[in-house]
Order: sequence, then C-alpha cells, then structure tokens
Amino acid sequence: MSFGSDDPGYLEFALAGLGDGREVGPALGGLLAAARGLLNADCAYILRCEGSVLSLIASDNLPHRSDGSVSLGVGGPEARAAIIAEAVVDRAGNSPYLGRGDLALAAAPIVLRGSVVGVFAAARQALFVPSEVRWVRILARIAGIAIENARLLEAERRRARYGETVGAIGTIERVQVQPFCQRMAAVINDVMAADITDVMLCRNLLQVEAGHGVARAPETWELVRAGEHRIENFGEPAGLDRIDTRAGGAFAASFKTGVPYRCADAQENPKAPSGLRTIGVRSILVIPIPGDREAQGLLIVGSRRPAAFDSDDAAFLRLVAERVGLLLRHSAIERDHARAAARQEFLSVVSHELKTPVAVIKAYSEVLDRRAGLSDWPGQDRTIVERIGEQADRMLAMIEQLLDLQRIEIGLLELQVSPFDLTELARGAAEAVQATTDAHTISLDGIDTCPVVADRRRIDEVITNLLDNAVKYSPAGGPIVVHLARSEGWAHLSVHDEGVGMSADDATRVFDRFFQVGAGTYRRGHLGLGLGLYIAREIVAHHGGRIAVQSEPGRGSIFSVDLPVSTVDLIAEPETIGVVGTEAAG
Ligand code: ADP
Repeated sequence: MSFGSDDPGYLEFALAGLGDGREVGPALGGLLAAARGLLNADCAYILRCEGSVLSLIASDNLPHRSDGSVSLGVGGPEARAAIIAEAVVDRAGNSPYLGRGDLALAAAPIVLRGSVVGVFAAARQALFVPSEVRWVRILARIAGIAIENARLLEAERRRARYGETVGAIGTIERVQVQPFCQRMAAVINDVMAADITDVMLCRNLLQVEAGHGVARAPETWELVRAGEHRIENFGEPAGLDRIDTRAGGAFAASFKTGVPYRCADAQENPKAPSGLRTIGVRSILVIPIPGDREAQGLLIVGSRRPAAFDSDDAAFLRLVAERVGLLLRHSAIERDHARAAARQEFLSVVSHELKTPVAVIKAYSEVLDRRAGLSDWPGQDRTIVERIGEQADRMLAMIEQLLDLQRIEIGLLELQVSPFDLTELARGAAEAVQATTDAHTISLDGIDTCPVVADRRRIDEVITNLLDNAVKYSPAGGPIVVHLARSEGWAHLSVHDEGVGMSADDATRVFDRFFQVGAGTYRRGHLGLGLGLYIAREIVAHHGGRIAVQSEPGRGSIFSVDLPVSTVDLIAEPETIGVVGTEAAG
C-alpha cells in the first residue's frame, strides 16, 4: 500500500472507529489497521500505562507475547516514550514487545488530561522520517480519544451496574451472617472485576451468630474472615483469615479510623499489606463496614492490575459496606428479639411447671409440721420438716422473682395503688424478717406515720427484700435500722446495715439483672438469683421513685428508696437510677 501523509482516507477510517460504538476493542482495532496502512507498518500496537506498568491492550500483526505486561523499569523505546512523554524512534530490537533488530520502531505517548496513560507504537523495515513521526503522534492522540471514550462508556456502565447491585443489596431483609458475607464477597468480586475479595468481621459478631452468646469481653480487636471470593488459581494470601487489629498496619488503621484505604500499586509500596503483595496483588481497596459506633469489619478487594480501583469504585464499595453494616445490625436485633422470645417462653414454662410442685411440697410440709406438733415427734424429725418448709419457701420466692422478671420484660408489671401508711408497712416487714433471725436487731426510726398512695404489696416486697439482704449480707449479725422521713411530696425510706458492704464498682451494678457481688466465688452458696434488687428497682421506678445504695466494703450499706407520696397520676417512665455515693455507711 502506498504511503501518503496527506491522504485523509486513512484518517477518516481511523476516526470512524471512535463513533457510536465506543467500545475500546473495535475502535482501537480500526485505528491500528488504519495506522498500519497509513505508515506502511509491519505491526502497530497500543499499550496502557498504569502505575509503573505497561500492558498491551490492542495490537495489529504483533507477534504473540505471553501477557503483554512489562515494568517501565525494564526499559525499551515504549517505556522511554512514556517516561519522557515524547515520541521516540529506535531499533525494534530494543523493544520488549518486538525484540527484532531488523525493524525500526516509532513510539508516541498517549496523554490524557496531562498525564501519560499509554503508548502508541508502530514498527516497519524502513526508517521513520520526521513527517511520519508526526503521524505517529497524531495517531497516539486519536488512540487517546478512543481510550477516553471507552473509559467514559465503561464508567457509565459500571455506575449502572453498581447502582443495581447496591439496590439489590438494599432489598435483602434477613441475613445469616456467614452465608451472607460469602455471597457478598462473590458479588463484589464479580461486579468490580476484582481478583480477590474478603469480608472480614469482628470475631464477637460471629460468636453471637454461632449461638455462643455475646462474648463476655467482646473481642472487637480481632477480625475473622466471614466471606471470601477469588478468581481461579489465585493464591491464598497469608494472614487474611484473621487480622489482629492491635498489631497495626493498613488494615488495622482503616478499621480503627473508619477511613478507607487505597493502594494503587502494592508491589511498589512496602507498607502495603504483605499477604496480598506476595500473591501478586497490586491494587488494594479496603472499606470499613460501619457499626453503631465503631466499625464491625472490613471489605477488602484486590486486583493484579495496578491502579485498578478509582474513586467510583471506592464510592460503590462504601455504599455496599453501609448496606452490609445495616443488615448485620438488623440481623443482630432480630436475633436479640428471637432470643428474648425464647427466654420468655422458657421462663414461663419453668415458672409454672416449678411453682405447682413446690407449692404442693410446701403444703405437705405444713401438714407434717402440724402432725409433728400434735404427736410429739423427735426433735431431729421436726427440724427436717421445718427445713423442708423453709427451702420450699425460698424456692417459691425465687419462682416469684422469675415471674416478676418476666412481667417486667414484657411490660406487664402493673401497680394496684391504694392509700396506706408506709411506716406501718415497714414495721410489719421488719417484724416478719426479725422473726427469721436472732443474730440481728431490726429497729425503726424517723417519722411515726407516713401516708402514701402506692402498691402496698409491691412496696412490701421491696422493703422485705432490702431487709432480707441486710440480714443475708451481715453474716456476723448486728443492728439493722429502717429509717423513715418525708419531704415535700416525697417519702424516704432507708435500710442501714453494718454488714459486708460492697465496692464502689459493685455498687454501680447491684441493681442490674442477675448481678451478684463476687458471683462464682465465695458467695455462690447463697440461695439467690441476683434478681431481688433489680425487681425492687423496677417496682420503685414504676412508682416514679428512685432507689440507690451507699456502701463501703466491710462497713455496711444504706439502701434508700424515695417514693412520691402519691402515685395516682404517676405511673411514670422508669427513671435512670443513680448511685448516690459510696461513702461509709453511717
Ligand atoms: P440476691 O438474690 O443475690 O440477694 P439481689 O438482687 O437482692 O440478689 O442482690 C444482688 C447482690 O447485691 C447480692 O448478691 C449481693 O452481692 C449484693 N447485696 C445486696 N444487698 C446487699 C447488702 N445489704 N450488703 C451487701 N451486699 C448486698
């Protein structure tokens, strides 16, 4: 074919490829064919330049090369054209793509928005003259337009794909953590055309999922792999099955700060995560999965191509991470509900199934006790009968506590208010508890009458519980004082003991459900559930009142209850209960 640099036919042909189709493949194919005709070249090809790597994206009549990627550092005329951003004419023997000394080669940089994104090259037997090199530059510019068009088209398509994916994730309602993460990894890897995707989650999330209950000390520092996907024959990265975020590094920093991490070329960056680097990953994008306050995990994607992820990809992955985070939180809430329902079912069955037989035992023990009295049983036998009665009472009290707990949890703790005298009620409770102990002296002081409107039975329960505790936790015996006072609109009742007391830390928790000071250690022998004070707090709160403790280890405790004098219109929202102080009991 004859060469004529002023022949516009080739150029038209070349530009035609940039029209409607805008696919980079056909457009560049047309351009390369036109270029070969125009320059009378043996072969022509286009390289993409990303980071420090050149890779072949289109060629015409180029002898086959394995993967077409070479580092800029390897040199050659193409690399030189990219580095100096100028056209280069050389022997093709110096080219890593051709390596044929019998050919001449002309290479020109493809520049987009001021940076070199690729190289256009052509080779032929005859040497290139300056006017032909000018054509090579023009062809490089046209290739730039084709690449840019294709990039825009690809970006548009990618955005549409990303939008669809995010929308689809938004419609998912229920998730089981691990299968969900596995599926997410596959979707992300596919949609982003990545080579490797990992979904890492805090270990405690998986523990909860596995039914091990909430971790006692939530191991939020340890991330474990909950889902993974990689293209075929991709190596297993070291250290990605679990990440200790206390050990530092790029993953840990992103997790702790909630800030995404992007690395354009891990091979050039010694700080990039080494596990990914060693299996040939070049681009890395890491996005934290947001939680209520702190991140609950990381989405990690990698590609063997350098600079494979741009800000669009990061924005997409952020949206995905947000959706994933929301779904994980929702599923946690659902799980909590399911667990609460199961617990209530359990409590209901246990309480009812237990209550009847224990009540029967109690009734029999009373019959036996009466018989023992009438027919003069030996002392030992009478003690046994008494013990049976006492134990049955304790069991019944615990069952009542479980039932109360259940009522509180389902919002069915209802008050039946009536006017009564708090002092008189307290006196009755004190006498009843005094009857159970010789080692303690229970006395009342303060005002003689204290009229209130409240639920008499429930307030009796509160005072009795405080007195029982005062006895139980003063093993050496001693005085216990119930103090009564009144102020504008309020009745104040406090129970003072000189027992074992408790630390400031324990004092902040005694009103928690199932809390027992030193549970599992020396006090395990006490028959109790750690529910008494929790229920007392709920009862007082339902009256619109407050309960608090002041205590010091070894010096006793003061539990004080403040009740509004009238609760007629005052079935208030329970208040937050504070610890008044931790000074020594008076
Ligand atoms: P329990 O059934 O274990 O007595 P409570 O809810 O009544 O449950 O009390 C919770 C915990 O608070 C008890 O296990 C005990 O450790 C501590 N406690 C309660 N009252 C006192 C007190 N007067 N002195 C010292 N510790 C107390």
